[in-house]
Amino acid sequence: MLYKILDKKDFKNFVNNLIYAYEVTAPKKVSQKLHDFLPVKDFGEVDLGYKRTTLPPAKKMLFPANEALANYKVGNNIEVKPLNESKEQLLFGASAWDINGMNFLDRIFSTDFIDENYMQKRKKLKVVGIDAEPSDANFASSVGAEFAKEGFDLFLSDIGDKYLVRLGTAAGAEIAAKFGNFSDAVDSDFRAYDKQLDLYKKKFNINVNLDNFFENFEIVYGKKDLWEKLANSCFSCGSCNLVCPTCFCFNVRDDININLAEGIKSRQWDSCMISNYGLVAGGHNFRPDEANRLKQRYRCKLKTFVEKFGQYSCVGCGRCVEACLAKINIYEDINAVKEEVSI
Ligand code: SF4
Ligand code: SF4
Repeated sequence: MLYKILDKKDFKNFVNNLIYAYEVTAPKKVSQKLHDFLPVKDFGEVDLGYKRTTLPPAKKMLFPANEALANYKVGNNIEVKPLNESKEQLLFGASAWDINGMNFLDRIFSTDFIDENYMQKRKKLKVVGIDAEPSDANFASSVGAEFAKEGFDLFLSDIGDKYLVRLGTAAGAEIAAKFGNFSDAVDSDFRAYDKQLDLYKKKFNINVNLDNFFENFEIVYGKKDLWEKLANSCFSCGSCNLVCPTCFCFNVRDDININLAEGIKSRQWDSCMISNYGLVAGGHNFRPDEANRLKQRYRCKLKTFVEKFGQYSCVGCGRCVEACLAKINIYEDINAVKEEVSI
């Protein structure tokens, strides 16, 4: 990894150069309280003072909420034309936890089966990350997602009147050389960065007890009363899935023309928390109640991918906590599992 310095006085110029050269998506204020990752045409539109974006997270650039997959014609022969829209883009101002969310999706969409629709977009996406302020519900440091080690081209950390910039890829080094007035980092910059990292880590205030969660989950797995209590107020709305940077479930739909000779196959984000997610032909529902679905969601987030990839599929961004109208809170429920086992 190469380390460079960008003076803050040169920052605006750097961002505007990127906007001039790429289609840039960056955090933008959309209402008094909300930010979203949206296309920007000028530095003035970018708001890096954001605590979080809500719906949807940056994954929408790689895995859109609604995506056409193929056109087809049915006649004497069946003709299928795969659809895969991708273009060179740059995501500016992504937080460490959102980058780690995309890193997780990279593994999902390239393990067992290569999802070309996702991978083409990922290959063409440049990512410039920046240390962001954690929101009150953010527990990224408890799941090891507060620091991005990979998945970006450049990553900026504020060290006073300048940024320490980590160059994560050759493309990142090229961007730095072409579009900004970067200099080499010296000892005093690394000392300032070390201090900044200490301060940054102190900003994560939520204490989540994941000690032994992997085993404890099995102990409480069959405790119906516990899961009914935790899911008691759930509306099965699916908002927690829709705002999540790591949820990857989708439904595939056919829209066939009235002539029954041609159609389009597309996918849409799905949610494991809605009532018909487990519904199959014949009317059987494998997960008919809220308690069962919440238990499954927590298993997916905190256990399944520890087994498969050695990591949580939760980056602790806290979006689901803030989006849930029923005030169901993943980190409180993690602590509730610990308490249940300790009784
Ligand atoms: S946990 Fe909350 S956000 Fe998720 S489905 Fe239930 S009510 Fe909706
Ligand atoms: S489960 Fe909740 S806290 Fe974890 S990554 Fe998804 S939205 Fe963020």
